[in-house]
Amino acid sequence: MPRDYYEVLGVSRDAGETEIKKAFRKLARELHPDVNSHDPDAETKFKEAAEAYEVLSDADRRATYDRYGHEGLRTGGYSPNFEGFGSVADIFEAFFGGGGTGPTRPGFGNIFGGGAPGGPAQGGDVSVGAQITLQEAATGAAVEVAYEAVARCEHCRGNGAEPGTPIETCERCAGHGQLQAVTRTPFGQMARTIVCDVCHGDGRVPKQPCRECRGRGRKTARREMEIDVPAGISDGQRIRLAEHGHAGGSGSHPPGPAGDLYVLVRVREDERFVREGDDLIASLDVAAPLAALGATLQTPTLNGMASVEVPPGTQPGEVLTLRGEGMPALHRGRRGNLRVVVNVVIPRRLNEQQRELLEQLNGTLTEENLRSEESLFGKLRRALGTHAA
Ligand SMILES: [Zn+2]
Ligand SMILES: [Zn+2]
Repeated sequence: MPRDYYEVLGVSRDAGETEIKKAFRKLARELHPDVNSHDPDAETKFKEAAEAYEVLSDADRRATYDRYGHEGLRTGGYSPNFEGFGSVADIFEAFFGGGGTGPTRPGFGNIFGGGAPGGPAQGGDVSVGAQITLQEAATGAAVEVAYEAVARCEHCRGNGAEPGTPIETCERCAGHGQLQAVTRTPFGQMARTIVCDVCHGDGRVPKQPCRECRGRGRKTARREMEIDVPAGISDGQRIRLAEHGHAGGSGSHPPGPAGDLYVLVRVREDERFVREGDDLIASLDVAAPLAALGATLQTPTLNGMASVEVPPGTQPGEVLTLRGEGMPALHRGRRGNLRVVVNVVIPRRLNEQQRELLEQLNGTLTEENLRSEESLFGKLRRALGTHAA
């Protein structure tokens, strides 16, 4: 039994058209094979999401599904139609652009497609991942990314015909580029216009298809580019590079704009720092006698080692703040702080002499040495590590 379509897209049952579209678009990006090569289930999940979107984005199918569920759709003659697609990449192309104008396959609306029906179709978006270090996130970095995207075939200059051979009017659609399709639904027959499957909306077919692209006028090519990752970027943020995705529809004149490239930036964990917004948090071991006496110690920062004053009587969990040693705020000059949490280390495995010294010290301690102005709440908060800045 397939999962509930609303659940798959993560929307409520009264979600509007825009919300459904947005939810699917988001999911599709997350499940893109370029970003998810490590996840063997991504393909299955993507197909599931595509099926849910195909049903919920169509008012009639949605109404049937709401009333009769999956069973109702099947007896109504609808079946998810992904068998014709070789791979997730093909499904992506069907949904998000690639080839011809408007919807590229029966049953699939090009939700990313731009323009009016018959107008130039925008190419699909491409997602790619990039990994950087925390240091690079702090300074900004130039990162190489490589990805596959549909591009115009240079051999035929995008018209799909072997150079020097004629292009003829499509016989199947008589040059209209569109066909009428009739679908059976529980509410009777529905006629709708679909893109011609022979000429893919061009209305014209090459007599001798281009040998490089097999007549499609486009082919997938590997691209490499260097992208500028801005200083202050966080793990999981995306950078959009307009029109660096799949090429726009080739059949239209002029061709539609290319889709966008989305770079998902992953910031590797740094064993020295934990990031909290624009602040960095580090831990500093301070031997108990030094915490009592006070000392100047060295602590790592993003810019190398820095001196930090540990005042006499510093308690475990106290926070020493190094202003401006945190991460830069994205697109703003200001920097966050480095918060150094003091970890007072109590000496272990004492030798004879050390034990004697500590016993002597302990004998001299008075009420005054141990008194604290801190409330119980303050002490607990510090011990539990909830450092209100
Ligand atoms: Zn070609
Ligand atoms: Zn045709």
